[in-house]
Amino acid sequence: MGVDNSGSLFPTYARYPLAFVKGQGSKLWDDQGNEYLDMMCGLAVTNLGHAPKKVADKLKEQIDTLWHTSNLFHIPNQEKLGQLLTDNSCADRVFFCSTGAEANEAAIKLARRYYQKVLGQPERYEIITFHMSFHGRTLATLTATGQDKVKEGFAPLPEGFVYAPYNDAEAVEKLIGDKTCAIMIEMVQGEGGVNPVKKEFVDKLVELCNRHGLLLIVDEIQTGMGRTGKLFAYEHYGIEPDIFTLAKGLGSGFPIGAMLGKEKLAEAFTAGSHGSTFGGTPLATAAGIATIETILDEGVVQRAAEMGQYIVSSLSAKLAGNPLVKEVRGLGMLIAIECTQNASELISEIHAQRVLVVSAGPNNIRLAPSLVIEKEEMDRGIEVICSVLAKK
Ligand code: PLP
Repeated sequence: MGVDNSGSLFPTYARYPLAFVKGQGSKLWDDQGNEYLDMMCGLAVTNLGHAPKKVADKLKEQIDTLWHTSNLFHIPNQEKLGQLLTDNSCADRVFFCSTGAEANEAAIKLARRYYQKVLGQPERYEIITFHMSFHGRTLATLTATGQDKVKEGFAPLPEGFVYAPYNDAEAVEKLIGDKTCAIMIEMVQGEGGVNPVKKEFVDKLVELCNRHGLLLIVDEIQTGMGRTGKLFAYEHYGIEPDIFTLAKGLGSGFPIGAMLGKEKLAEAFTAGSHGSTFGGTPLATAAGIATIETILDEGVVQRAAEMGQYIVSSLSAKLAGNPLVKEVRGLGMLIAIECTQNASELISEIHAQRVLVVSAGPNNIRLAPSLVIEKEEMDRGIEVICSVLAKK
């Protein structure tokens, strides 16, 4: 993996030395015609596999009909997707955008504006987030992110974010003050190492939010759309966030994001207070509609729950006693093998066997396979990973 600084692109990515030209289901083909098994799904995006037929058909139909009009007009597809999302979640309202960072930016803006405009408490603007969280790369979302490396060189950063250790309720309680308006959290920290949050901690957060009148914002960009074995990861914890955000899996790879919230927050936004040219275009929302309909109609969530358990138990059994492996953990099909050493060399060796996995922090091998991956494909992927780990 290296930074290619030679061409026309800004060198923002360290890229693996591979280029793919075709994808179908859990398979990818590189520009030399080699076949790969994809167990990372473009970072938890292509949850229905590559080029899923129903989404592809819907996009083709929409491409021949209408791509873009602007949010100055009603967009029937946007209203339909909004209804599908609110019917199947705890939210009442949806704002559409194009990326995860943009969805989180909207969540931060909504929380602040609710306090300023609806509750008349402009002094309450501070949001508590967590060490090792990841919320995006815009200025507000990288400031919300609890990892210094994403902030380097971008000062001055926006005011109003404080950070607590994950799963430490006492630390959160200490940070709550006159300025606090919200707590923002991932139910499983994805980029931070695939760390599922503890149930008792979530219960305590809800209790603190209720006691202090704070909004609970759940970032479901990586965990949403069935990835963890529930449609949304907050469902595992029996809670209802005030706001949650989606992107990645929402369009099966077509760029679309969403910020969803409870009815009481609706009046905080008025016409012109927030917007996005590409938010919820007829084309993007067509991808979203076909994605969620497929997930709901084809029992994808239940399958992800079962397959996730199978993967974790199979990996745990095969890797038991391996000195390179500290832990196998995850929720649904967002899984990490935590190694006792830096995992980048191991990941390259797995890639050399034509199986694609990705890191999540230095020591973790992250697996985020398609939620509809065939069992035989999954077994082959597990076999390859375990054989690479066994050889060391
Ligand atoms: N939030 C979480 C939990 C993420 O995992 C990511 C991306 O990895 C983001 C936000 C940012 O999403 P995007 O890259 O679409 O802006």
